[in-house]
Amino acid sequence: MTRKIALVGIGKIALDQHVPALAADPDWELAATVSRHGRVEGVEAFTDFATFLEARPDVGVVSLCLPPQPRYPYAEAALRAGRHLMLEKPPGQTLAEVHALQALAAAQGVTLYATWHSRMAEAVAPAKAWLADKVVKRAHITWREDVRKWHPGQDWVFEPGGMGVFDPGINALSVLTEILPMPVHLTAATLTFPENRQTPIAADLTFSGGVTADFDWRQEGPQTWNIEVDTDAGPMALRLGGNRLEIGGAEVVGEDTIMGEYPKLYRRMTELVDSGASEVDLSPMVHVADALTLGRRLVTDPFRF
Ligand code: NAP
Repeated sequence: MTRKIALVGIGKIALDQHVPALAADPDWELAATVSRHGRVEGVEAFTDFATFLEARPDVGVVSLCLPPQPRYPYAEAALRAGRHLMLEKPPGQTLAEVHALQALAAAQGVTLYATWHSRMAEAVAPAKAWLADKVVKRAHITWREDVRKWHPGQDWVFEPGGMGVFDPGINALSVLTEILPMPVHLTAATLTFPENRQTPIAADLTFSGGVTADFDWRQEGPQTWNIEVDTDAGPMALRLGGNRLEIGGAEVVGEDTIMGEYPKLYRRMTELVDSGASEVDLSPMVHVADALTLGRRLVTDPFRF
């Protein structure tokens, strides 16, 4: 059965990933967009969310691609209108916002799916399966990318609620929390803030269980998205943001594209709606909140796009 869906916030990720993923999936029909400026050719476009909800009761599913700061009122309105709801990562600006949405979705009897696209990367499930019966001795995340390349001109990432370098870093934490065979908690953090910005541009994190992380948004040239794990059965590494798996130094899964992640998110949404379930795992966001609670502050040069 084809389901009608509306995309809200037609910007970078909606156009790069959500629109192509929906176009390729026969289970979904992109029936409307809601965005102040963005449009998708051939799709009915609204600029106001309340007007959309009133005009299109036939569209039962809404997918929010807005930045986290403006997202909550849209999410609340969608759930109150009885629509199933899918959230881009991170699912909100605060944990409490998402707890409120979870309670509302349950009360309304609709699906809430807080997506983590990096968990859908090709090598994440095989890495989780391999680690399941191993003892982790150490793990280190290196997540270094160029904010100017991935978020050109997006000042919201440096505003309160934008999470700064945790916007990509939470992708690494979504993979870490998926693959590790044991829970970890943050014990220390150093956060580096540009002197003219509200959120960090770099972060060094220490967790229980010998787990550490190095996030930096100032890396030009080749980008680095690695999770390296030492176990009682030797080393394992996830590279390319979870798309390549190496065990004992040899590649066992290899894929260098994130194009597969969003189709898998929409397939998962189909399953959740069909089974009347929700999926909201806030463990990656708990680590970010803890880093912002425990972090020591360093100040660095001003940052301008
Ligand atoms: P974006 O392009 O800056 O924003 C998406 C759209 O949201 C904008 O084009 C804008 O559309 C609308 N919007 C922005 N601020 C708004 C506001 N205050 N009120 C109402 N609408 C507003 O952001 P993005 O890069 O697509 O990221 C959106 C989300 O996807 C974030 O949570 C991000 O973490 C996640 N994500 C991004 C990437 C990436 O590569 N950029 C990758 C994976 C996930 P209108 O002006 O038309 O209203």
